[in-house]
Amino acid sequence: MDYKQYVKIVEDWPKKGIKFKDITPLMENGAAYKSAVDEIVAYALKKQVDIVVGPEARGFIIGCPVSYALEVGFAPVRKEGKLPREVIKVDYGLEYGTNVLTVHKDAIKPGQRVLITDDLLATGGTIEATIKLVEDLGGVVVGCAFIIELSYLDGMDKLDGYDVLTLMSY
Ligand code: IMP
Repeated sequence: MDYKQYVKIVEDWPKKGIKFKDITPLMENGAAYKSAVDEIVAYALKKQVDIVVGPEARGFIIGCPVSYALEVGFAPVRKEGKLPREVIKVDYGLEYGTNVLTVHKDAIKPGQRVLITDDLLATGGTIEATIKLVEDLGGVVVGCAFIIELSYLDGMDKLDGYDVLTLMSY
């Protein structure tokens, strides 16, 4: 499917100079959303995934339907102060700003095979931080799946040695 027709490019948002890729039209189109999720599910089925992990908030939109289809659990990675029980955390840099990500300490069991999902790979800071959280808990990252890669930001460099699926690239 040509997914790009469902991505709206928003100039100078959230900051001047950023060309934000808005995937809400893709999610709002039933056929496009299903096709994107199905492609990620097909990829994940080859990897014996035990649990899907996604960073808030758009990682949930992709990861939850994938985990449902795979009949495995979903563990949310969230910004600091959002998860109610004991967490581990990591600092990370974004394309625009910095942040802290956290995950519940008991979300992933050592040795579990983890698929990480997010909507978009930009500089790779978010995925790198999410991988660190998973690996700090003893999880094995068997794949990372994104709807979009912004190849000009070189996020893929941070994923050397990991298996990655992207559905479209800018
Ligand atoms: P990174 O950490 O620089 O790779 O940025 C990726 C994260 O920022 C993802 O969680 C995205 O949801 C978000 N993000 C960065 N740029 C965009 C964009 O153009 N559209 C949608 N999300 C973006």
